[in-house]
Amino acid sequence: MSSKPCVVVVTSPSGAGKTTLARGLMERLPQVTFSVSATTRPARSHERDGYDYHFMDRTAFHEAIEQGRLLEYEEVYPGCFYGTPCSEVEASSAEKPVLLDIDVHGALSVKERYGDAVLTVFIAPPSLETLKKRLRERGTETDETLAVRMTRAQYELSLADRFDVTIVNDDLDKALAAFTRLVEHHMAACEAVA
Ligand code: 5GP
Repeated sequence: MSSKPCVVVVTSPSGAGKTTLARGLMERLPQVTFSVSATTRPARSHERDGYDYHFMDRTAFHEAIEQGRLLEYEEVYPGCFYGTPCSEVEASSAEKPVLLDIDVHGALSVKERYGDAVLTVFIAPPSLETLKKRLRERGTETDETLAVRMTRAQYELSLADRFDVTIVNDDLDKALAAFTRLVEHHMAACEAVA
């Protein structure tokens, strides 16, 4: 690695608009690359292997852990493992920051490992009710998975104050503008220490 990594980690309860914000950010700042995680969860119908996630079975996932290819990993939902490939972060720099969309624990461990090279951003929904409504409208959840995601959301919100910043996503344009400014500022900070 010739330069120091520059990392932005975005975390939010599923359905709080994080994916939309991440896409919007990369349109505004095309030098930002997206870290493609590994996961054992089944692909949704619109998802592409190698683009949304590296979909793998448990054996392949555990091999990746044993070979030290994952920077961090978590069992985010019972039986569903997710992990960040080391290569995604190692390839980043102030000119080419990487954006990680990972869960609370993953976010905090990446921060602990890379310190100031990492900006942790928590995207909060305006309320838990809004979140539930958005998840229902998305149509990807059964009653059972919706309940699991809502329980998880409450837990994740309780850890928001351990992040560098929280953005409440009640207005997408405003949230995106705030997110973009924060990332530009972080890139400048990475540049200063590179
Ligand atoms: P989903 O199943 O909705 O795509 O993602 C579920 C959760 O897993 C999200 O909160 C997402 O941020 C998290 N996640 C995705 N990739 C990773 C990863 O590499 N590491 C960790 N710790 N969490 C991840």
